[in-house]
Amino acid sequence: MAKMIRKNYLMAPGPTPVPFDVLLAGAQDTIHHRTPQYVSIQKEALEGAKKLFVTENNVMLLSSSGTGAMEAAVANLVEKGDKVIVVSAGKFGERWALLCKKFESNMIEIKLNWGEAVAPEQIKEVLDANPDVKAVFTTLSETSTGVVHPVKEIAEIVKDTKAVMVVDTISGLLAQPLKMDEWNIDVVVTGVQKGFMMPPGVALISVSKKAEEVIKNCKSPRYYFDLNAYIKKYPDSPYTPPVNLGYQLKKAVEMLNEEGIENIWERHALMADATRAGVKAMGLELFAKRPGNVLTSVKVPEGIDGAKLVKDLRDNWGVTFAGGQDHVKGKIIRIAHLGYMSQFDVIVGLSALEMAFKKAGYNVELGSAVKAAEEVFLKAGV
Ligand SMILES: *Cc1c(COP(=O)(O)O)cnc(C)c1O
Repeated sequence: MAKMIRKNYLMAPGPTPVPFDVLLAGAQDTIHHRTPQYVSIQKEALEGAKKLFVTENNVMLLSSSGTGAMEAAVANLVEKGDKVIVVSAGKFGERWALLCKKFESNMIEIKLNWGEAVAPEQIKEVLDANPDVKAVFTTLSETSTGVVHPVKEIAEIVKDTKAVMVVDTISGLLAQPLKMDEWNIDVVVTGVQKGFMMPPGVALISVSKKAEEVIKNCKSPRYYFDLNAYIKKYPDSPYTPPVNLGYQLKKAVEMLNEEGIENIWERHALMADATRAGVKAMGLELFAKRPGNVLTSVKVPEGIDGAKLVKDLRDNWGVTFAGGQDHVKGKIIRIAHLGYMSQFDVIVGLSALEMAFKKAGYNVELGSAVKAAEEVFLKAGV
């Protein structure tokens, strides 16, 4: 075919598409950060973010990707020899385990197969046997598998112990219901390049009063990520914040709050339903046992190279899905419906998937996935 302009569609679970208004908000004069003008912008962004965390606690801004906030959580809660519980059922639960190892904790790892979700009873059992556990590290949406863990039920168990409940919501926040205060979650960490419709570069972290006490008394070495400095400086930053990303965060938070958190959750649930109806109509099987609204992970049928298919979609058609990581590389495809996404993004994704599978020799009826998704949308009345 003749050379053709290529339009890109980001359908991976981070970074996600950024709305033009958010991009443009960043293209403004960089002002000095120690001015009332900048601090009021950051304040507005962070106060608005509280509504998205559904909390009265402050939300603090770190200049890092999401992993920086994960490291901050561990560095500020865990001392050498402290007993902690880590749920690891995929790449990102494993990251909590790696961090807790680095900080020389006495870790009890609840290790599950990729694709599985933890049962709250498993946490209860370990907590009952170990009343000296200081922190429980979990993941809302395990992005490597698409599984959502029952963090509300886990927090219900942790709340009556001395342990603090920590949740990695880097991909999960906004796509998946989470109410920090009502659910008694002590530490919520996220990154803005996923549900927040932002370019990468900012992590957000919110801590409860219970966690704040632990942070104050924690003796682990840390400097840049010492949360005491961020707590003290709020809504300002102890070090130079990413000023232009601050402008963008204010805009993104404004847009999100205009939609409203309940509507955002509902939109993500609808996109997930339509995507799943589509892939099932193609005869594909889901990988996650407890799939959430962040992404749909599908098993690649025998005889098809999933990694090659993802590369083909990205390089030839401009549609970026994520493949599998580590031992599921080539075996699953992860289709994100996260962030700045609406019905027609899902249609584009499913159409691309149909064509790529057909091209790879899989027996698919063109239009079947798209039709199934369209029916879900019409039934929902949108
Ligand atoms: C993306 C992601 C991370 C890693 O975040 P970075 O911003 O790449 O550091 C960690 N946990 C989960 C659940 C994620 O989705």
